[in-house]
Amino acid sequence: MPEVAALRGLARLLCRIGRHRPAGGEVWNRGYYFSRCARCGSDLVRTASGRWHVPEGRRIVWKPRKPRGRQDRD
Ligand SMILES: [Zn+2]
Repeated sequence: MPEVAALRGLARLLCRIGRHRPAGGEVWNRGYYFSRCARCGSDLVRTASGRWHVPEGRRIVWKPRKPRGRQDRD
């Protein structure tokens, strides 16, 4: 569908200029929020007052979820 293709192109453009869309379930850790872009899958980070951006020169390491019954609370 042309409309959908146009929307996808727009979404890609938004991501390319840094307007990522964080997926739900952001994680708070050491003063930063971490998430992933719902559109392009890039790792995203933001401070409490900042906006989402892709961390430059850093890679977010996502820890695997802990097994059931042993949940640590930060
Ligand atoms: Zn994106």
